[in-house]
Amino acid sequence: MDLFSCLSPFVFCSFASGSSGNCYYVGKQDEGVLVDVGISGQSVVKALAKIEIPMDRIRAILVTHDHIDHVKGLEVLTKNHSVPIFAHSDCLLGIAEGKATKNVDAKLFHEIEPLQPFEICGITIEAFPVMHDGRGAVGYHFSFEGHTLTIATDIGMLDKVVKEQIRRADNIVIESNYDVEMLEKGSYPYMLKQRIAGPFGHLSNRESARFVAEIYRPEIKNIMLCHLSENNNTPECALSCLYEQFRMKHVRPDVNTSIFSLPRHKSTGFVYL
Ligand SMILES: [Zn+2]
Ligand SMILES: [Zn+2]
Repeated sequence: MDLFSCLSPFVFCSFASGSSGNCYYVGKQDEGVLVDVGISGQSVVKALAKIEIPMDRIRAILVTHDHIDHVKGLEVLTKNHSVPIFAHSDCLLGIAEGKATKNVDAKLFHEIEPLQPFEICGITIEAFPVMHDGRGAVGYHFSFEGHTLTIATDIGMLDKVVKEQIRRADNIVIESNYDVEMLEKGSYPYMLKQRIAGPFGHLSNRESARFVAEIYRPEIKNIMLCHLSENNNTPECALSCLYEQFRMKHVRPDVNTSIFSLPRHKSTGFVYL
């Protein structure tokens, strides 16, 4: 069997991840969807061109919530390319009222019902509610020809629903936002620290790592740590925290499981799911 016939037909690509902007591609190698447009419309088109996907092959934009680092480029991108926007109704309201997004054409809006699967270009998609202080915050589970992916970003706490949605995926994008010590000792104002660490803020390296180590099974193909804080984390710190949890739980990850963090500004290229 040659290399290409082993590669999965289902791919993921991160263009940006973190509080300065988030944007992912999920789909086949010739058509699919975007998850969040937290970078400029122009950057999205450029990043897509690098993986040889023209904008007219994007069938939908799925939005996780209305925070600016997830919707910043939505207006410009959809002005030039009219792509349906899928999000929770509260998030759509947030987009319609948002300073940077109020001119997005509401005719593109499609309300999603959490935990009700729907299909776009053959990919089954299910949104699930997450605890976060953005409006209508959700994560997404995808499945295509037996390949599965869960994206769980911007989460204050791993509740039962989120855990279940991550557990059912062979590919995981999970938030690993901050190192507890770096946040505590850092220069952020007290209120902001409280917000980040609170149940509607973000997931710490430890919370994320503990859970991943707990549910790990060798069938998991990719563990991708996302939305790392620029000031309160480093990729080395997030990854070493995860390996420490593996060690503590006597888990030895399989050689076929790729474990990495998503870069803030660089494209990952295709990750085969
Ligand atoms: Zn965010
Ligand atoms: Zn957020």
